[in-house]
Amino acid sequence: MRDFLNEKLNELEQSNLKRELRLLEGAQSREIVINGKRVLNFCSNDYLGLAGNLQLIQAAKESLDKEGFGSGASRLVCGNMSAHQQLEKKMAEFKKTERCCLFSCGYMANVGIISSIFTREDIIFSDKLNHASIVDGIALSRAKYKRYPHKDMDALEQMLKAAKDFRKKGIITDSVFSMDGDVAPLKEIVTLAKKYQCLVMVDEAHALGVIGQDGRGLVSHLGLEEDIDIQMGTFSKAVGSYGAYCCGSKSLVEYLINKARSFIYTTGLPPAICAASLKGIEIIESDYQRRQQLWDNTYFVRGELTSAGFNTLYSQTPILPILLKDSALAVEFSNRLFEEGIFVSAIRPPTVPTNSARLRLTLMATHSVKDVEYLVRKIKEIGKYLKVIHN
Ligand SMILES: *Cc1c(COP(=O)(O)O)cnc(C)c1O
Repeated sequence: MRDFLNEKLNELEQSNLKRELRLLEGAQSREIVINGKRVLNFCSNDYLGLAGNLQLIQAAKESLDKEGFGSGASRLVCGNMSAHQQLEKKMAEFKKTERCCLFSCGYMANVGIISSIFTREDIIFSDKLNHASIVDGIALSRAKYKRYPHKDMDALEQMLKAAKDFRKKGIITDSVFSMDGDVAPLKEIVTLAKKYQCLVMVDEAHALGVIGQDGRGLVSHLGLEEDIDIQMGTFSKAVGSYGAYCCGSKSLVEYLINKARSFIYTTGLPPAICAASLKGIEIIESDYQRRQQLWDNTYFVRGELTSAGFNTLYSQTPILPILLKDSALAVEFSNRLFEEGIFVSAIRPPTVPTNSARLRLTLMATHSVKDVEYLVRKIKEIGKYLKVIHN
């Protein structure tokens, strides 16, 4: 056993793919202390800076005083608390769907939704860059799994045409892709889904709070609420909290409550977490300025880096990749930034495809003009030194 583990660990080490945990001291914020060093944080999904927001903390405290900490049981046994129901009601309204049900986290939502709805008689078409939790949900469902090349609608249509003799068909996509920061062609997907009678499921993890005038996500931004059967997302990113939701029809939610194993066989979320999520959604709905700052920072950094010659792929969101391809180069770039007081993680295979190692920056609403200017200056300096860009 130990030989096997060490052999595998050595392999990872040799190929620059070994990962280590880094310790964050204090709260998640635009500036954090990592391994004892104070650095600017450019790799958090806390886009709106709500993870350390005083209103969220206050909402959680009030809930703790009133409802205690743990929920004590599965929601279906005796763990269904008013904080859960309030958040579900709010999300159904916010997403303009009939109903919503909560899951403990986005990973569990995807695994539970997909594996309860699809069976071995069904077929699922999934974007090649979809999140790992979608891939795992598909594996658990035992449905036939067809990966289409990233956002390639012609390839998807060919696959749809060729798919015969399946009981149900489904297309699943992230709305914002977590490693590339680009956006799914949802309108085209909906058109194909109608033509070939498919269900559509969208993962809005990186879109909630970020996309659209009011932060409702991409489905709402494109006015596709009626056309998307299953909308899921998480409270762990822009909402600054934890947990996940699935929004859709009344029958969808009733079905999930009865059939999704990751809903049934787990303890309900602690109510204080739901109270914080609810506050986060209220802020997202009302604080337009916060989202505007996030986008101002995004446009500035993306503009500067692309004109300096960096390859930021097709990013359209606050997730900004800098493609370096080589894993060792990505790690060195990240380490040099760290020395300069900037924390940006190097993303390597298998999280991204082979030969596409990159830095993955994420902007936050709470980064100041000074923060983003310093970031851009240091990335350009190190980029020149490491010969990623020239002159
Ligand atoms: C982060 C993420 C998840 C998982 O959500 P958690 O709440 O962190 O478990 C699912 N899908 C996508 C696209 C994500 O980025």
